Amino acid sequence: MVSPNAHLCRLSVYEPGRPIEEVAREYGLDPSTVVKLASNENSLGPSPRALEAIRKASLHAHVYPDGNAFRLRQAIAHRHGLKIEQVVVGNGSNEIIEFLGHAYLAPGIEMVISQYAFAIYESVGRLFRAEVVEVPAKEYGHHLEAMRAAITARTRLVFVANPNNPTGTSVQASALREFIRGVPSSTLVVIDEAYHEFLKDALETPSLIQECPNLVVMRTFSKALGLAGLRIGYGLASMEVAAALQKVRQPFQANVLAQEAALAALSDEEHLRKSVCMVEEGRAFLESACRARRLEFIPSSANFVLIRTGDGRGIFEKLQSRGIIVRPMQSYKLPDWIRVTVGTPTENQRFMDALTEIMAP
Ligand SMILES: *Cc1c(COP(=O)(O)O)cnc(C)c1O
Repeated sequence: MVSPNAHLCRLSVYEPGRPIEEVAREYGLDPSTVVKLASNENSLGPSPRALEAIRKASLHAHVYPDGNAFRLRQAIAHRHGLKIEQVVVGNGSNEIIEFLGHAYLAPGIEMVISQYAFAIYESVGRLFRAEVVEVPAKEYGHHLEAMRAAITARTRLVFVANPNNPTGTSVQASALREFIRGVPSSTLVVIDEAYHEFLKDALETPSLIQECPNLVVMRTFSKALGLAGLRIGYGLASMEVAAALQKVRQPFQANVLAQEAALAALSDEEHLRKSVCMVEEGRAFLESACRARRLEFIPSSANFVLIRTGDGRGIFEKLQSRGIIVRPMQSYKLPDWIRVTVGTPTENQRFMDALTEIMAP
């Protein structure tokens, strides 16, 4: 038998939110009645402009995409006041995390993450056999002072997701600016802004790249912009860092439909406004329903809420049998909690009604 590389035995397969079709099959439900609130997608769907762009681009599906993603990178660069060479497009921003691993991690190298950080950081760290240093959280969020103190001469990457997944916590703009400025130039400070659009009074991190060339900012089209199924995201960095990331990339990882849809979605401010509005209202509904039911939750800056239900796995399964998919949290060492994505008002109501029924004494 051929054995895989030994370090893979310490790696587990990522457990994603379960697909609607799979749950419907398992429980004998009509897929059209199943609600997925498990992966922080946009329940309003893609922007109509993106849909039109996909239709048009589909006629060119037989041609390789622009491997340089010129128009998309140009639009992103313009939006952030950066040069096109500073923009790296990924097959989801998850791929940017992997590029960082390829370019900067190796055995003997450390990366610093927070307790309750996005699971992919640790799995990429292990994939490249780096040492993953996990810093205890402060009130479920990032303890920036402790993270700064954990950085050594061997630390190449430090990750801060703002807002953070799965906790929904965010760090203050002034504290984040101070942290970014305080990280030594021998360590890349990676700010993962997958939920940036939902954040109020956010620090404009891309404008700090000039001053802090060790800063990397990641954004995605998967969450507020409603294109999770197409897999597209990007990283912003100094010319030198971006050039390194470009080297580890496969030539055509961002496909034709994704590039065109992303470009169109960027210009649709109306759809974004509606999406953010839906999330703010839905999140207020969920949080006040939790208060009324005396359920502990973590006040969220993103499009999901972490709720302490006790026996997260059990509650997740009971919700699933009622056609509502959420996320159990034991893989994040939060076994008493579930994470629910903020959906449409109807979806939020269905979730709350089902949860209330399940938790009734
Ligand atoms: C969803 C998410 C991402 C990236 O998702 P992609 O679909 O790969 O762009 C990155 N970071 C965090 C914290 C996320 O929750």
